[in-house]
Formats: sequence, C-alpha cells, structure tokens
Amino acid sequence: MSKNSKPGFESLCYSNNEEYPDIICPLCAHKVIVVENGEATVSQCPHLVFVRPDRPCVYEYESDDFSKRRAVAPDDVPEYCSDFIDFLVAIGYDEKLFVYEVTYSGMGCGPFTTTDFIGFISEG
Ligand SMILES: [Zn+2]
Repeated sequence: MSKNSKPGFESLCYSNNEEYPDIICPLCAHKVIVVENGEATVSQCPHLVFVRPDRPCVYEYESDDFSKRRAVAPDDVPEYCSDFIDFLVAIGYDEKLFVYEVTYSGMGCGPFTTTDFIGFISEG
C-alpha cells in the first residue's frame, strides 16, 4: 500500500423534485439512507463510516473508528475545508475508504440543494 493512496471518491448529482436518492453501500448493497414520511434516517451497515450532511460539525452517523480519528485530528487541517478528502487523508484514511459526494436538488419549502458526504470502508 502506497502512502499516497487516497480514498476513492465519486460525485453523485441528483436534480429533481423527488425523494432523496437511494444511496447503496458499494460493498454489500445495503441501502444506508432510508426516507420515511419525508424524514431521512441512517441505516448502517458494517462498512458505513460516516454520513456528513451539508452543515458544519454535525454527523448523522460516525463509526467508532471515525470518531476516534476525528478526536485526534491535526489542528492545521480544517475539517470543513473545501476538500474534505484532504481531511480524511490527514486522519489516516487511504484507498480502503470510499466516499460518495451526494448533491441533491429538490423542492422543500422552496428550491434547495444539499451536498452530503457518505463514507464506506472495505475493512476495519
Ligand atoms: Zn455495507
């Protein structure tokens, strides 16, 4: 394993007025975001590492390992910098981690766009 190996990353864009898109674990095909009555909840699988919605400092879900790593994150790498991947590398994640950046546009009480980050790991 090279020290330069970065987490995998894929941008998913959804622009419509429909329900939140199905986000499926790339490893076990578990649907990790379940929407019922307009409320999205996290349904974890063994590979889910974090669900970071588009607002600062709130994780809908974080694994024990992720929260431990975050607690000792170096101060000089802002967690909410534009490149979230740099933060993940700084706290020691490599290519075993896979991140979806989910951009979703829809109609709530008006048009909105959110960007959520959802991470999975292939072991650990
Ligand atoms: Zn899974």
